[in-house]
Amino acid sequence: MGGEIVCPVPLPAGQRILLAHGGGGRMTRDLVEQLFVPAFRNDVLAALHDSAVLDVPAGRLAFTTDSFVVRPIFFPGGDVGTLAVNGTVNDLAMSGARPLYLSLGFILEEGLLVDDLARVVASVQRAARESDVVIVAGDTKVVERGKGDGIYITSAGLGAIVARRPVAPAQVRPGDAVLVSGPVGQHGVAVMAVRDGLRFSSPILSDCASVAAPVLALLEAGLDVHCLRDPTRGGVATVLNEIASQAGCQIAVHESAVPVGDDVAGACEVLGLDPLYVACEGRFLAFVAPGDAEAALALLGARADTAAAARIGTVRAGTPGLVTLKTMAGGERVLDLLSGEQLPRIC
Ligand code: MG
Repeated sequence: MGGEIVCPVPLPAGQRILLAHGGGGRMTRDLVEQLFVPAFRNDVLAALHDSAVLDVPAGRLAFTTDSFVVRPIFFPGGDVGTLAVNGTVNDLAMSGARPLYLSLGFILEEGLLVDDLARVVASVQRAARESDVVIVAGDTKVVERGKGDGIYITSAGLGAIVARRPVAPAQVRPGDAVLVSGPVGQHGVAVMAVRDGLRFSSPILSDCASVAAPVLALLEAGLDVHCLRDPTRGGVATVLNEIASQAGCQIAVHESAVPVGDDVAGACEVLGLDPLYVACEGRFLAFVAPGDAEAALALLGARADTAAAARIGTVRAGTPGLVTLKTMAGGERVLDLLSGEQLPRIC
């Protein structure tokens, strides 16, 4: 893909897009031809045909889909565009795949600022380039004012499996080490703070980022990674409960071992949140065979993007589906699924 995108001339910057909903109009065509195609330029997209025709490596593919409805669409450290690319790339990586191709569907609300759309498109382009994925298919629809919320993005992603052994919840075994790739809770707090109008001396940035590179490094080092999962909605606690149930194991976690930034911990107190339940968008949990846990932690610790990786717990035979937390105070309690509603519209 080429350089930074330039907002097209016929769509004046700072002006609202005044599109009739229903699509097919000249404005929609202009958007596609003058904004999206130049930004995401590649040989596959250049064909401008009804579907992308792809070269894929021999072997197995990972395929995933997701929708992004974050409110507001811009938040400290990212926007709906960076979320859509990184969220999809990360789900591919969690299956032990190298992300290859993305498709993106944009649902735009009538009245959206051209500048805002151009910013999001630039974010998509940058994030795709950083993860070395190619956007090979896309669609744009416009809905009436008041029937959308600025920009929604639906994505799909294809990746090539590079893991030599399956990476899945069913592979988790008693004795596995549970690693987290960095400090937790930043994304959810960043979005909730801006939505609630909270001000901090320095803003808390979302951790929104691709985790494909560190995951591929673990796999290419031949380390025995049994399962990977990104703690997005519901955070680390929810993911641990999901894996414990799916694997039919118990997971024991040490609260003091879970990395949480001081700023996130403080904001969580103000917001009445537990950082263990707050979404990350640039972290992953790895369940690693006991013999490879030290090597995996050393590998992650040596990388700038996962320098704060930590071992937070261990899988035990115990009670299937149970997650226990050794608290800072020294007690032990069940780390349950949240009974109430999780933070809405944060991804
Ligand atoms: Mg995921």
